[in-house]
Amino acid sequence: MLNFDYKKLCDEINDLKNMYPFLEVTCEGKSINNRCIFCITFGNGDKEVLINGAHHGLEWITSPLLTQFLRDCCDSYTQGKRYKGYDMREIYNNIKLYIMPMINPDGVDIVINQGKRWQANARGVDLNHNYNARWDLAQKLERENGIVGPRWSRYGGPAPESEPETRAVTDFVRQHNIQRLIALHTQGEEIYYSFEGLEPPQSLSIALQMAAKSGYTVSRPESLASYGGCKDWFISEYRRPGFTIEAGRGTNPLPIEMFDEIYQKLSAILLVGIDM
Ligand SMILES: [Zn+2]
Repeated sequence: MLNFDYKKLCDEINDLKNMYPFLEVTCEGKSINNRCIFCITFGNGDKEVLINGAHHGLEWITSPLLTQFLRDCCDSYTQGKRYKGYDMREIYNNIKLYIMPMINPDGVDIVINQGKRWQANARGVDLNHNYNARWDLAQKLERENGIVGPRWSRYGGPAPESEPETRAVTDFVRQHNIQRLIALHTQGEEIYYSFEGLEPPQSLSIALQMAAKSGYTVSRPESLASYGGCKDWFISEYRRPGFTIEAGRGTNPLPIEMFDEIYQKLSAILLVGIDM
């Protein structure tokens, strides 16, 4: 699992598809450097749930966390077993789970194969500031903080959805009937569920249940972190539950040695997120 870059993701997806042929794998867009932004579909039901990871290069551990989650769901489903108390056959029949494990494959590549500290995409746009959710306000805050152009982090781009990686997500959401969205980041063991009060009341109940199962904290975002993000856009556009999960605790990139510990709590959170 060491150094889970785009090539490793491709190998992992091939392996999953071979083991579990009922999975559907699609390429929902291309990054600046022409890498696929993959989506893997699990389930046959009506309730459509999207979970994505690795918007940020330094947070690449979220990709193997999501493929591991998929593996455990598939394993329990094929064996007719419960997973952490959840009947996976029932879940398979009730939901359609879309997992986009690596939104920013170029950023992950820069971190892993060039050894840089880098959160943005290949042309220096922070994808989680590039969504159309009070983007103008995000830009104003960036400028006040001296952020005016491409850099390793926190530049929201020349316009909302200017980046192909962002559009891979927004196009996908527009083409489907996504009831719930979870964006996975690191770190802090926090659950963000709100955006300017536009979320439905159900969002807080889900966040509290996620917290109860994991020990994570339910948080409200502040200042620069709070605009132009994926869950912000989803909540403001659809008024449906959207979450940012900040998995693990430490300094990014979180060491792969922490994987099992992070995964135990995170898988409980994701199961609440797709089932509740
Ligand atoms: Zn992040």
